[in-house]
Amino acid sequence: MIKPILKVALDVPLDRQFDYLSNGAPVQVGQRVLVPFGRRQQIGIVMALADTSEFALEKLKPVSQVFAEEAPLDAAILNIIKFCAEYYQYPFGQALLASLPARLRQIAPAVSRKQFAYRLTDLGRSIDLAILPKKQLILQRVMAALHSDDLITEAALDAISSGARKTAKNLVAQGWAMSEQVQAGLTAPQMPVTAVPTLNGEQDQAVKAILQDVQAFKAWLIYGITGSGKTEVYIRLMQHLLQQESDSQILVLVPEINLTPQLEARFQSRLPEFPLVSLHSNLSESERLHHWQLAQSGAARIVIGTRLSVFTPLPHLKLIIIDEEHDSSYKQQDSMRYHARDVAMVRAKHLNIPIVLGSATPALESWFNSQVNETQSTKYQRLHLRERAVTAARLPHIECIDTTKVNLQQGLTPQLVNALKLRLAKGEQSLLFINRRGYSPVLLCAACHWIAQCMRCSSRLVVHLRQKKLSCHHCGHEQRIPNQCPSCGDADLHPIGHGTQRLEQTLAALFPTARIARVDRDSMSRKNALVEILNKVHNQEIDILVGTQMLAKGHDFPNLTLVGVIDTDSALHSPDFRASERLFAQLMQVAGRAGRADKAGQVIIQTQFPDHVLFNALRSQDYESYANAMLQERETVQFPPYVFTAMLRAEANDYALVQKFLQNAFNFAREQNSQVTIYDPVRPQMERLKGMERGQLLLHANKRGSLQQLLKILVTHLRGLPIATKVRWAVDVDPLEF
Ligand code: ADP
Ligand code: ZN
Ligand code: ZN
Repeated sequence: MIKPILKVALDVPLDRQFDYLSNGAPVQVGQRVLVPFGRRQQIGIVMALADTSEFALEKLKPVSQVFAEEAPLDAAILNIIKFCAEYYQYPFGQALLASLPARLRQIAPAVSRKQFAYRLTDLGRSIDLAILPKKQLILQRVMAALHSDDLITEAALDAISSGARKTAKNLVAQGWAMSEQVQAGLTAPQMPVTAVPTLNGEQDQAVKAILQDVQAFKAWLIYGITGSGKTEVYIRLMQHLLQQESDSQILVLVPEINLTPQLEARFQSRLPEFPLVSLHSNLSESERLHHWQLAQSGAARIVIGTRLSVFTPLPHLKLIIIDEEHDSSYKQQDSMRYHARDVAMVRAKHLNIPIVLGSATPALESWFNSQVNETQSTKYQRLHLRERAVTAARLPHIECIDTTKVNLQQGLTPQLVNALKLRLAKGEQSLLFINRRGYSPVLLCAACHWIAQCMRCSSRLVVHLRQKKLSCHHCGHEQRIPNQCPSCGDADLHPIGHGTQRLEQTLAALFPTARIARVDRDSMSRKNALVEILNKVHNQEIDILVGTQMLAKGHDFPNLTLVGVIDTDSALHSPDFRASERLFAQLMQVAGRAGRADKAGQVIIQTQFPDHVLFNALRSQDYESYANAMLQERETVQFPPYVFTAMLRAEANDYALVQKFLQNAFNFAREQNSQVTIYDPVRPQMERLKGMERGQLLLHANKRGSLQQLLKILVTHLRGLPIATKVRWAVDVDPLEF
């Protein structure tokens, strides 16, 4: 007998579910349905089936459609989202719908697109590659790929170039190739089989320790510098667990899309028998849906993805791996502000499975949690990989150059210029790291000291000389570079300071024959642009790379022996107490780019503060002592991880509204007499953003539980306030930014 009432979660900012009548179609909990809501139709998820409703039955509307051909969401995933909605103080329905691929939020059955693959016809096979026009690079590469592999999928074509699908279709029209439909995402790629290294002692111990106890929840932190063989340890663990049971699944989280292709290729070449899918925002909507469905059905044994993929249904999940666990991109900065690492931790606990975090510079939270101390047992088991795995590889030599003591040439010290010269002469590659895109961060009037400011944000406009534009990196506002000062009319306007574009230009002038490439958000906006540049670096077609943090992570360049770091001093004195932690991690990562193979690397850091403790620790690559020092500092001032924090953020066109709202929250929270410290409302460093005046209220507590209790009643109170509709507000639990 079908129960007549469906309780449905909808994508609306209300913390409740909605009752509908069954339309007679069989339906299960977790199923996707279409329901009338107000004057529209909305997608919802069935959360429960019931016999009764608190509303009169004649008031209830029937569901419009049950998407019965789709598998329902399982209880495990619904539970984890329920936990998150409560913990992060976010409406459950919105959290749930946001966790799904976009296609599942649309009003249509989610049938997956079939993927095509191509193979050569006899005619195509008879074509001599040498006769192909030299200029048609994509054609050459596609033909070469078809020649060497039997079957090339669309995904493999995308890896060649964004234009490769079109080329393949043309080949079909020409009769050189034919296409066929394949089970997308699951064709085993033709990867060169790589040699399997013998684990060193520490790796071996790590693998054995973790495998000893895989039947229960346990958290591990693998701590080791870049190249210490962490990924190799992941691979061994995966291999073991995937072979042990015929249906086991493994989730691997990475902080950035750009890191997935490399890791994907490495996993596929080492674990070719296990179907792998990736999940990230560079996929098309239909690819994303398809990959997600392969994960949900259990067909994909390995899922590798970014932040959001922590919510992927995986019926046979046996292990979660979080690479670069310290990375702040695991934290969602709007809507539900979850931290994927923390969510994964809870998920592993729910499922009673192990979770492995890896980093060269663990987040201070994780470091703290993995510390052995007398009073409480450690939450994470720390495993230290001390050596670089490849014995021939040497640690880079790191030095700081005091920029106040030398003459800078367009922002470059003579030491760095000479080191660059030397690499060019030896045919080795260099990387210059500067965390600022654009030409220069400031446009200044020499006569009256006017500075170009964004009208909508409390920020300066960045000069983009090539585009002849000023641009706000916070709201995207753009305007032409004025010919004269808007304040005094003088024409003497100067770009001050350096960004990637200016550095690129300086280098081109200094080294006219060098092949220079710039990697930042502006130059890499095209799909596959980064992959193409990285390929060029590998093929020795680039001598000097200039770029932002996009370059810092995970890319292995064997012939790169010099890393220069330009002007990161502002982070040393930032009011954000986490800025130095992030800088240390970033610099360790960039430094790790130098000399990975058998060539020694050199790192030159230009700074006004060469004796800063951060640089001292960096020079000896001693994260441990730096982390311990930072922890002591945090304990003294009672900052996280010694306390638990939440931030109530609010914004409106008019600051008076923000103030009134936050004051109300402040008064209400104080009245509760809880164990939570409530600070006065203040303005954040960026007072205005996108035309909105901002304010925030910080709460902190010694116990997570006390904070959670207060937040719950506070948020309920705030949701009922009339003024709450006049400001945009959000609660950020465990905020990363202050
Ligand atoms: P990480 O993930 O810590 O940066 P990787 O696992 O990527 O380190 O290892 C760095 C390099 O060393 C890779 O090329 C890897 O294949 C190789 N490698 C890892 N472990 C070993 C080992 N035990 N013996 C030889 N080479 C190894
Ligand atoms: Zn002026
Ligand atoms: Zn702006």
